[in-house]
Amino acid sequence: DAVVHWFKRDLRIRDNTSLSKASVLAKERGVGVIGVWIMSPQDWEAHLISPVKCDFELRSVEMLRQELGELDIPLHIEIVEKRKNVPKRLVELAKEWEVKNVFCNLEYEPDELRREERLVKMMLENGVNMEVWHDDCVVPPGSLKTGGGKQYAVYSPWFRAWVTYLHSHPHLLGERPMPDSNPMGFRDKFAKLFEGKVPCAPASKTLTEEENERFTQMWPAGEAAALDRLEHFLTEKVVKYKETRNFPALNSTGRVSVHHAAGTLAARTSVRMAQDINTTKKLDSGKDGVKGWIGEVAWRDFYRHVLVHWPYVCMNKPFKFEYTNIEWEYNDVHLHAWREGRTGYPIVDAAMRSLNHTGYMHNRLRMVTASFLAKHLLLDWRLGEQYFITHLIDGDFASNNGGWGFSASTGVDPQPYFRIFNPWLQSEKFDEIGEFIRTWVKELRDVEGKAVHNPYQAGGQAKEVAKKNGYPKPIVEHRFARERCLARYKMGIGRE
Ligand code: FAD
Repeated sequence: DAVVHWFKRDLRIRDNTSLSKASVLAKERGVGVIGVWIMSPQDWEAHLISPVKCDFELRSVEMLRQELGELDIPLHIEIVEKRKNVPKRLVELAKEWEVKNVFCNLEYEPDELRREERLVKMMLENGVNMEVWHDDCVVPPGSLKTGGGKQYAVYSPWFRAWVTYLHSHPHLLGERPMPDSNPMGFRDKFAKLFEGKVPCAPASKTLTEEENERFTQMWPAGEAAALDRLEHFLTEKVVKYKETRNFPALNSTGRVSVHHAAGTLAARTSVRMAQDINTTKKLDSGKDGVKGWIGEVAWRDFYRHVLVHWPYVCMNKPFKFEYTNIEWEYNDVHLHAWREGRTGYPIVDAAMRSLNHTGYMHNRLRMVTASFLAKHLLLDWRLGEQYFITHLIDGDFASNNGGWGFSASTGVDPQPYFRIFNPWLQSEKFDEIGEFIRTWVKELRDVEGKAVHNPYQAGGQAKEVAKKNGYPKPIVEHRFARERCLARYKMGIGRE
């Protein structure tokens, strides 16, 4: 007998609810824990997971395997091509190992919920107790209700409720105990299970050798790297977070989204560690930087809660129904220009090129580029949502969908539709001296001064450099785009 923990988006040993519970039960029974990780290439395809994210997960699984090994806990690794066969395979493994208890953490998207429901039933039919734990959110979905008993659809009151709930339920932030080492002799008895090897990525997700090196260096995987990054941020940067967070050239944010997405770091750990260094030891008072940062991590919970209450957001529908009828443009040339960072709007292009090269984009720029796609180019926001998820290393359905809904004004608690970012003003405000633009748009490196924000409009030296280096002119005219967007949105939502 042993207790099995199925690792999914929780590729860590520390502060892992289900793994911790599995270890407690195993200890009570004097047995060991077996970890399982299953790669389903079809599942990765279905979820449009980016190759960089797959690579990051595979590297994290290898770290996890090694760390578990130090506790004499094996990580059994398998490939199950079809995702619908994963539950069946888990039941077979439980039977093969003669285990009576299988644990995992809950994932909230409809497909995953259905899978878990089926799995629990199948396990029960086979005499196996299956336990599924809340872990991914700091506050489990379903815990917070408005005075009228409804789910919040606005972030600010939701956040106040989130804070109050956590202050009155401090155990939710408590660190889950580390799993114990497996009993003596376990390794010998289950020697075969320790032979697991991390597979290569499926063909469609494979990186080139150069990309592999680049991303490995840029994004060290595994939970030790996650904790290093978090600690560094909390000691060096968080105090200034409020003033610096919007400036992409400053590298002043936590850069832990990749770890939250892969589960190499629990959002709970981030919030707890931030609260611990806060002067008031609270979530919403004390140092501005700390409470501001906690508020950002809370957005991740917010979008998950939204997804649980309104699962149709997972089905390609806008949160706000009245935005279903907006008539989008169909323009592949524009879509390609946006993807490749050749729109003629330097801040947009710099942002898109940074995404294509690093798998990451700064939050301010995610908003600028998303707004540009949906409002300036008037292309369906879902095309952008899809491009992001297929290229981000921190791709996460709920946060990405929420961010796109916010920026395109179609989502929960969005920007009002008539608020249309002016990319040049955003650029001047958040990349004042053009440092970020010059890093990513090589054609404009030699442009002097502020003309870098809009070289063709500025004329003179800027225009000459841009032209000489083949930098494109703006693919849409700002004023025209703004008017078109207002008219089309108004018409779509029936306000005219
Ligand atoms: P920090 O500023 O250090 O924030 C700390 C943590 O809080 C982040 O790691 C993240 O987990 C969470 N967080 C911060 N802002 C948000 C937010 N607006 N929504 C949800 N969680 C947030 N985030 C993803 O993790 N995956 C995505 O696929 C994703 N897609 C996005 C798409 C768009 C159009 C927009 C506008 C935002 C998107 N975000 C996404 C949110 C945000 O941009 C990133 O979480 C953030 O840039 C990550 O950098 P960081 O770790 O340095 O963040």
